Amino acid sequence: MHDRSSPRVALLGFSIECNKFAPPATKAHFLARTYLEGDAIISEARSPNPTMLPETPGFVAAMDASGPWTPVGIALAMTEPNGPVEHAFFVELLDTISRGLKAASPVDAVYICSHGAGLTTEEDDPDGVLAEMVREIVGPDVPIAATFDLHANVSERMVESIDAFIGYRTNPHLDMRERGAEAAAAIREMLGGVKPQRARIRLPIVPPTVTMLTAAGPYAEMIDFGQHRMTPEIMNVSVMGGFAFADTAKNGLTVVVTARRDRRAAEKLALEIAELGWANRARFYPRLTSLDEAVARALAVGRDPSMPALAFADVADNPGGGGRGNTAFLLRAFHEAGLPNALLGVFYDPDLATEAHHRGVGAHFQARFNRSETTRFSEPYTASATVAALTDGRCVGRRGIYAGLRLELGPCAALQVGGVTVVVISHRVQCADPIFFEMMGLDIGRARSVVVKSRGHFRGGFDEFFGPEQIVEVDLPGLTSPMLNRFEWKRLPRPVIPLDDNVEWQAA
Ligand SMILES: [Zn+2]
Repeated sequence: MHDRSSPRVALLGFSIECNKFAPPATKAHFLARTYLEGDAIISEARSPNPTMLPETPGFVAAMDASGPWTPVGIALAMTEPNGPVEHAFFVELLDTISRGLKAASPVDAVYICSHGAGLTTEEDDPDGVLAEMVREIVGPDVPIAATFDLHANVSERMVESIDAFIGYRTNPHLDMRERGAEAAAAIREMLGGVKPQRARIRLPIVPPTVTMLTAAGPYAEMIDFGQHRMTPEIMNVSVMGGFAFADTAKNGLTVVVTARRDRRAAEKLALEIAELGWANRARFYPRLTSLDEAVARALAVGRDPSMPALAFADVADNPGGGGRGNTAFLLRAFHEAGLPNALLGVFYDPDLATEAHHRGVGAHFQARFNRSETTRFSEPYTASATVAALTDGRCVGRRGIYAGLRLELGPCAALQVGGVTVVVISHRVQCADPIFFEMMGLDIGRARSVVVKSRGHFRGGFDEFFGPEQIVEVDLPGLTSPMLNRFEWKRLPRPVIPLDDNVEWQAA
């Protein structure tokens, strides 16, 4: 073989969260966010403001810091949550990775930046397909570490094709960089001879998004329990909440434990965590606030400046879960209620943003939201508006999941619609970072009500303005509604909590 003192480690990845009810994602979506081949992966990962999510930069930095290595970039495709990926692009990516990995062989180890809730228009387990292909190419003895989003829907193929399974542990996802570093540490250990063993247990629970916070609640307790039960034998404990809207047969809250040698130790701990999750099963039901009550609360804080301001999360239209970011229910209700001093963002409407740029700052016009309807939830809405600010949408994330990332939101406009100032964007993202308001010159600290199109990642960005008690999750129609009984499921395993009664689970 070659020089073991500077191990050759291949880097590759496919990362997208896919909502089966949303329109398909194309190659263009990846090209617009992150599509890299070869050494460009490494240089982008080492740049101060990369476009990719932080696990690969964390991996590269930790490898750099822990000794000599020879990074071998293969291909990395990553983009915002969306509908299923056009299958032809996934096939093309597999082919690129296969050719690149074979050309780079032999390698000493592989790092896969995965998500776990990807879909294609023809395949429900692309993450598993990729891992399996990589294993076939490198053979049984080359260590593979992979990182996964905590919304991963875990297949047996995903777990069995790799050696170290490392999932995010925080939601909002603020530990991506650390998990990348953990993958690097696992690679170093495996290069030193450790051959990990894994155990996997899936529960018949598909947790609605809002029940999967990690600060407190039934899911947080499972994660905390797992971390407290770490021993020198256990390399990693991952509790994967999954992503309901992928609607696959592999959906279900899944515990994956990676042990350094002893499979029995992994199995024992996985079972204990699963049993805790099962004991908590009655708590995986969402509790949201009705639109009428949300309007009443917004009016109350609008009238009384001594009350703390409120953030209203439009959890059903979360671009971070494949939502379009363009439903108008809250905008219409807040505007028509005459709400003062409110912000709303970020509303995805390229046509409207372009028109605002043509009209210019100060222009007064009839703003037509959703003139080209994209889903049945994206109803047209027209209101008198004034263009308050315009930008080109280029920014660097300031706080939360986008912190330090280079982002392009396309032409953006702040439109004053009565007492509500709406930030309209041209590239769809979730409203997880205060910068999206601040770059328009808007002062979040002075607003009485702030509407965010985000399910939960906004908590990591807006926590300096809104504590947990100032957050109102509003019950509205949309592609990412936590009210799972409103969807027509085709593939979810049934019976399952929270959709069915009399769900049973027996520890194997
Ligand atoms: Zn996630």
